[in-house]
Amino acid sequence: MDSADDTGKARRTRKASGAHFRQSKAWRTFPLSKLEKITEEDAEALFRKMRWPETDGEPVCPWCGSHKSWYLENQRRWKCKAASCLKQFSITSGTPLAHHKLTFKQILTAARSFTKGAKGNNAIELSADVEIEYKTGYVLQQKYREGIMHSMRDGRLTGDVEIDGGWFGGYIKPDNRKINRVDRRLKAQPEREAPRRCRCA
Ligand SMILES: [Zn+2]
Repeated sequence: MDSADDTGKARRTRKASGAHFRQSKAWRTFPLSKLEKITEEDAEALFRKMRWPETDGEPVCPWCGSHKSWYLENQRRWKCKAASCLKQFSITSGTPLAHHKLTFKQILTAARSFTKGAKGNNAIELSADVEIEYKTGYVLQQKYREGIMHSMRDGRLTGDVEIDGGWFGGYIKPDNRKINRVDRRLKAQPEREAPRRCRCA
């Protein structure tokens, strides 16, 4: 579990020095190759700590908040002991990563790969790092982005706020009206309207 300790250390380092997380020693010494050595159990334990940091990884029911549950070992899930709830949950229940098929180690490796660049990385590169299909990598990246969006929802910017970088405009898809569609299965083609030009803002 060196990796979890390193990450925590890096967070504290950033707070203390004000430097970016990726300038910290913990970041430099936590390459993808290090993740290859951790076991699936280590990765799962790390996910538990990230999911339930206030109880140091002990499960909390996401549906009612109860701290008491039975562990269903075969399913690697928990069942809430609260009589009014009794629902089952896993580490990822109620998060964008719910119903995942990838292993925790793969999800963790993908997360490390995703943070390689300041703007994230592309799904092709990620799929090569984690050895998964391109589409799987793309969906996983969208889930990470959704998670980031949820965590930033209540954030308020205060003081002098400077934001740069922006991209506006581009191609506007023309209207797709049913009346203008051509059914190419029919032999006699109906007459079409004159081709329309798209409007660009
Ligand atoms: Zn519950």
